[in-house]
Amino acid sequence: MGDFQTHEHDVLVIGAGGAGLRAAIEAAGDCSVGLVCKSLLGKAHTVMAEGGVAAAMANVDERDGWETHFADTMRGGQYLNNPMMAELHAKEAPARVHELEEWGALFDRTRDGRILQRNFGGHAYPRLAHVGDRTGLEMIRTLQDHGIHQGLEVYMECTVIELLKDGDRVVGAFGYDRERGRFRLFKAKSIVLATGGVGRAFKVTSNSWEYTGDGHSLAYHAGADLLDMEFIQFHPTGMVWPPSVRGILVTEGVRGEGGILTNSEGKRFMFDDIPELYKDSTADTPEEGWRYVTGDKEARRPPELLTRDHVARCILKEVSEGRGSPHGGAFLDIAWIKEKFANSEEHIKKKLPSMYHQFKQLANLDITKEPMEVGPTTHYVMGGVRVDAETQMSTVSGLFAAGEVAAGLHGANRLGGNSLSDLLVFGKRAGEYAAKFAQENGGGKIDDAEVDALAKAALEPLERDGDGENPYEIQRELQEMMQDKVGIIREDGLMKEAIDDIAKLAERATQATAHGNREYNPGWHTALDLKCLLTVSEASARAALERRESRGAQTRNDFPDKDPDDWGQHNLLLRKGADGAMEVDKVPVVPQTEQQKKIIEDNQ
Ligand SMILES: Cc1cc2nc3c(=O)[nH]c(=O)nc-3n(C[C@H](O)[C@H](O)[C@H](O)COP(=O)(O)OP(=O)(O)OC[C@H]3O[C@@H](n4cnc5c(N)ncnc54)[C@H](O)[C@@H]3O)c2cc1C
Repeated sequence: MGDFQTHEHDVLVIGAGGAGLRAAIEAAGDCSVGLVCKSLLGKAHTVMAEGGVAAAMANVDERDGWETHFADTMRGGQYLNNPMMAELHAKEAPARVHELEEWGALFDRTRDGRILQRNFGGHAYPRLAHVGDRTGLEMIRTLQDHGIHQGLEVYMECTVIELLKDGDRVVGAFGYDRERGRFRLFKAKSIVLATGGVGRAFKVTSNSWEYTGDGHSLAYHAGADLLDMEFIQFHPTGMVWPPSVRGILVTEGVRGEGGILTNSEGKRFMFDDIPELYKDSTADTPEEGWRYVTGDKEARRPPELLTRDHVARCILKEVSEGRGSPHGGAFLDIAWIKEKFANSEEHIKKKLPSMYHQFKQLANLDITKEPMEVGPTTHYVMGGVRVDAETQMSTVSGLFAAGEVAAGLHGANRLGGNSLSDLLVFGKRAGEYAAKFAQENGGGKIDDAEVDALAKAALEPLERDGDGENPYEIQRELQEMMQDKVGIIREDGLMKEAIDDIAKLAERATQATAHGNREYNPGWHTALDLKCLLTVSEASARAALERRESRGAQTRNDFPDKDPDDWGQHNLLLRKGADGAMEVDKVPVVPQTEQQKKIIEDNQ
């Protein structure tokens, strides 16, 4: 075998966002843990999270409890969620948040000194623990601080490109360090994938350069099942102007603090379309909506706080019917609260400091005085690696997944704030069970010839003649194509075209060429990312084509209604067939227990 830097650990965690750090902390008790991340430690996606972490601590409204959080999560996910994951998540989130506090996280406070919680879409009560609109930063800082004291070995700026197996079980991973371009071989008894999302498969996204679906693709090619890949969340409020910042997130916290959506005619259009499922829990008048966001427990939530899928569709409808904002979105107005508060400017700056600076610096707009222009942006993937609810082990032995890369908790649509709590709850579980697996199983055998072949294949883009394909061009075409053909509104013909396009782009990707040498070479890195982007794009397109209904994040022109009897009872599973082609399988949803059914009924 080639002379690769080799590292050996009981547990290898791939990804150092919230899920990876929490898993690594948990596993570190009795095991040696390696933590690999593509960028610098602390720069994961989690750091960008703004609005907060959902946990039914009932600090602001004593009526809240795990049952309501569970029921809200199931309803938000349109009942395609794994109910056991939703139950564990709702039950364990408060303890995970308190634990963060014990490790040093400083949350905003209620007057009597408890963790403050704010309103968010789809949550019945104020439930999001937060630190202004910089919650992710506080969370990652705390986990990182705590984590490095547990003796984790961190490999920064290292990209894993393949999982290694011995028979049916994972035994290691192969990657390269981005700075010097040297290969690294990791041997491990168990592996936790915590690689985040897939947003970079689309042109307009809130996701950063790292989110190329690596974990999804690594798991799939190692033989694991993927689930629910049709459900890509388009967050309703991304920046739309200027073009250079299109897609950057505008937190739901703006609407949680009273922000309203209006069209070019100045109309607050969200009152026009309230889904049946939410009729009873939505305010009838703007006045009632305002009372809700300012804490009146008798009031119902304003329609701006309906679920993300619905709000995104309503904005698109305004645009397509000619009532959009000048740059193809809608207006999001928080400045209007000056009618209610004498000190509204200070209030907005205190509650939404990042949003204030983001618009001031990137769009030269003062959100305390003027409305923002917003439109949908690719934000989150509900689909991912199929895992066991309790242990987070995938269908491949020794391979675990947690956080955005895993599927099951969110069903057809994720509620805001439920990702940060997902990372903590299931990150901890993944770490615990990965450590257990490592303790109960010896190390497997690495196939040296396989590793040599992987290294050779990875170097091919650098060794082709200069006239091969430009990886950036393939990436750009893929992103535009996915945006146009597998975006927010979908239909049969376009998705079939998308699948053909992906096959052609995959063919071209085999000829991707990178100039220069191995030392920090982004062209080479992009050439290697293409496999992941193409894999997750194909998975999303195939699943979206198969699901012939509109539900949650999936909206189809040709099947505009829900199909409760058939599709409402099924998830879609994707796996690599024996011939290497992607197979799509319809599988029954995980059934709810009698107790879960009752909780859902009681919380309608
Ligand atoms: C702007 C923004 C605001 C958000 N606000 C909220 C919010 O308020 N509340 C909420 O609940 N959710 C929010 N979300 C969603 C939430 O932040 C993410 O879903 C969550 O942080 C994902 O965490 P993770 O641990 O799964 O992965 P990430 O934090 O995405 O971390 C992934 C890690 O994997 C590493 N990695 C990826 N591929 C590889 C590879 N091949 N090899 C090695 N390492 C790899 C990366 O370097 C990184 O360290 C927001 C998202 C965005 C973009």
